[in-house]
This record gives sequence, structure tokens and C-alpha cells, in this order.
Amino acid sequence: MVKYFEKIYKGSKNEFHKLVRRNLKNDTKMFIVTANPETLMIAEEDYNFKKALLDNNTTIIADGIGVVKGAKMLSYNIEETIPGIELCSKLFEYCNELKKSIFLLGAKEEIVSKLVNIINSKYPNAIICGYENGYVENKQAVFNKIETLHPDVVLVALGIPQQELLIYNNLDKFDKGIFVGVGGSFDVLSGVKKRAPKLFRKFNLEWLYRIVKEPARFRRFFNSNIKYILKIRRIKNVKGKNNKI
Ligand code: UDP
Repeated sequence: MVKYFEKIYKGSKNEFHKLVRRNLKNDTKMFIVTANPETLMIAEEDYNFKKALLDNNTTIIADGIGVVKGAKMLSYNIEETIPGIELCSKLFEYCNELKKSIFLLGAKEEIVSKLVNIINSKYPNAIICGYENGYVENKQAVFNKIETLHPDVVLVALGIPQQELLIYNNLDKFDKGIFVGVGGSFDVLSGVKKRAPKLFRKFNLEWLYRIVKEPARFRRFFNSNIKYILKIRRIKNVKGKNNKI
């Protein structure tokens, strides 16, 4: 667990967005994982996912407040959260400004096609070089197609850990591209689902809004977050004891 906190990007959201813009402009390949406590708990139980997260070429950012707070309990200072959904919007903006191309993979057909229309009208200089919904059977075949298109940005919205594993297993085939697993971002950016109101975001309660709106998430959220808190407390206790010796 500590290894993830050591690795997670510590700077501000603004600095990170600038770094991504620079890499996009210079064709520097980047794989970004937007982590919440559930991400880290899945990685603890899934060797391949853990390997993907801890790879030197992977950048992890704190998507949710639980990651910032957990890190703080173990004396790692992460300045603030960098929500994946905001990174996604920034990438559209940068692609528009720099005339770069995007491939979108994930979400239902009506959602991803709606998002493509929104990008085309709001960011006319961004080039959508292709898109595919996330319910096609052979997602590897989609990635084989993406490889031939050489996109500057590849956004994959399939949920964790499928989206990250698919990117990680194909990453070596690409010599440029900003690759991000963006979870439910297409649902929100297409306008089909609403993001938590500002007040919830201000008090770091976006997670609560999502549970209220989608109660089916509760069990998943509760299990992973309770395990996460217990794990961090255990590490903190061990650290405390070691410091006393
Ligand atoms: N999804 C998909 N194919 C699948 C399973 C899920 O395209 O086989 C999409 C789903 O429609 C949604 C996204 O993946 O748009 C996952 O959203 P969720 O909010 O569950 O993401 P997470 O909480 O994992 O970030």
C-alpha cells in the first residue's frame, strides 16, 4: 500500500494538467491511472493490476479524497485531488488547442456517440479518429485498430481494473499517446448522468452523491473503503511502533 502512496503524483491539479499538456504537445507517451481507495484495494488482490500501477511508466493521480486522506495518515502529502473527469475535459480542450487526435473506447453506444457529437461541436479542432462502445465482445480487437490510428489521446471507460489492464497490456505497441482509464466519465460528460453539485464537491462528498444516486454502488463502496481504512490504520500502527523502538 505504501508503495502506491510513494508513487502517486503529489503536486497540484494545475501543475499536473500543465504536465499532461506538455506531454501531449511533445508526443511523450503517458499512462495515467486515476486512483480512488477501491483502485488501491483491487491492486492489493490482483497481481497484474498491481504490476500495472507500480510500473515505472505509469502515473497515478488521486481521483478521490480517500486517497489524499489515506496518504496523509501515513505522512505523505498529496496536495489535492485531480479528478479524472476534469482531466478528461482538459484533454478535449488541449486537443482542440493543439489540433490533436482522440480515440474513445467505452460506455454504451448512445452515450459514447453523444459525447463524440459534443466534442465535435464544442472542440472543433480536436480530431476524433475513432470511437467504440464498451460492450463489444472483443476489446483487444478494438485496441488493434487503435494501434493503426496512432491517436494522441486514448480514453478508456470500462471501469476498474478492465480499462487499466487493457491499456497496460497494449502500451508497448504505441510510441506516443496519453492513455487514461476514465471510469464513468463518458456517462457524465455526455450529459446523460449528472456530476455531484458544487456543494458536494466543495466538501469532498462527491462519493456520497454517487451512492445516493446509484444505491447499487453502496456495497462495493462500503466493502472496499472499510478494508482500505482498516489497512491504513494497521500500517500506521506498525509505523508508530517501529518509530518508538
Ligand atoms: N462499461 C463498459 N463496458 C463494460 C462495463 C462497463 O463500457 O463491460 C462502462 C459503463 O457503461 C460506464 C463505465 O464503464 O460508463 C464504468 O463506470 P463506473 O462509474 O462503474 O466506473 P468506476 O466506478 O469503475 O470508475
